[in-house]
Amino acid sequence: MSVAILGSLARTALPGVIRWCLGYALLAAASAWILCAGMKGGAVTIIGVSFLTLGAVLLLLQGTRCFFGAPAVRRDECLALAVCCAALAYFTVVSPNIGARGVLISLGLIYGRIAVGVLALRHASGERTRYACRLIAASAWLGALFYFARIGAIVCGVAPTLSFVQPSPWNVVLLGLAIVTLPGMSTGMVMLAHARILERMEKLATVDELTGALTRRAFMERAHASLCAVRAQGGALSIAVLDIDKFKAVNDSFGHAVGDRLLAQVSSAVTGQLRRCDLFGRMGGEEFAVLFVNARKDDAIRMTNELRMAVERSSADGVSCTLSAGVDGIGAHDTLESAIVRADAALYVAKASGRNRVTVAPDIDASSGACVAAPRRAEPV
Ligand code: GH3
Ligand code: MG
Ligand code: MG
Repeated sequence: MSVAILGSLARTALPGVIRWCLGYALLAAASAWILCAGMKGGAVTIIGVSFLTLGAVLLLLQGTRCFFGAPAVRRDECLALAVCCAALAYFTVVSPNIGARGVLISLGLIYGRIAVGVLALRHASGERTRYACRLIAASAWLGALFYFARIGAIVCGVAPTLSFVQPSPWNVVLLGLAIVTLPGMSTGMVMLAHARILERMEKLATVDELTGALTRRAFMERAHASLCAVRAQGGALSIAVLDIDKFKAVNDSFGHAVGDRLLAQVSSAVTGQLRRCDLFGRMGGEEFAVLFVNARKDDAIRMTNELRMAVERSSADGVSCTLSAGVDGIGAHDTLESAIVRADAALYVAKASGRNRVTVAPDIDASSGACVAAPRRAEPV
């Protein structure tokens, strides 16, 4: 079941998932081997099943590291696995010792499970992944506890001849309990993978891939939320609509790829100037919007001019560009949409009057809704 479910996630290309799937596949192969060989299983079965089991634990550990962005393969662990396998072969063929074999395999499994549990708990801070990480850690450590008990039983002589292929009551209880914790781990892993997929989808829906700015939808959503919050505190808000000048000419002269990089550069130049509280979104094509939080119209004009100058200074592949902007304040009874329409109209005026400038929307007479002044150019600061 675990192989089938983790296997269904293999195409998501999430780091670690294929290793998890292979780990569970090795465990399934080991279980099938034991079931088929039963008590008749000789040295080959014992060595084969032990190798598969230890290899599986190493894969689960590597998968967990990979998933959390840590380097997956550690030389000392691979070396320890090789030494462990050689020792198991020795205690099976050269000097048969069931107890030593049981202790060796249990130690390997305990190490793997404790390490997986520690990794999972270390990354259990995220709201969405906390439960899954705790489930993995609890299952892994519970399994480790049963293997400790198994070692205790062997060392204390309570059950000195415990072999993995023996259907003795000790094996049924301790191995059975340890194995029951495996689905707990795989369930947690599947939950983690789903949380990561959801995170990716959310990022795709909210952040524009090329420029790193908010998508239009995310910008509008967050701007509405900011509007409510800032108004409740009596703060001021302003909006600016920015559009790159003659951008089509950049594409036509230097190619679309250079245009893309310039677009990303403009976005990074703007983001570098903004305060943490401001919102920056790509409204479409080469048009952007900025919501200035706790900023009156005059502050917004000054800050937009700074954005304009930062863009003028920046370049990509030796190509630079300028931008024009329209700015307006958002009144106490105003809607975000109507403020954007006014800023857009001011942008149109900036374009018509020569580009590379910031223009302020005309003041609106609150009682009649009529313009009381013509759009004016904001002087560079
Ligand atoms: P204006 O100063 O009047 O704004 O002129 P403009 O050329 O910038 O405006 P226009 O609307 O004529 O052209 C916008 C161009 O932006 C056309 C389109 O190919 C380009 N563009 C839009 N999105 C992208 C993008 O993601 N990458 C690239 N490279 N170009 C884009
Ligand atoms: Mg343009
Ligand atoms: Mg445009």
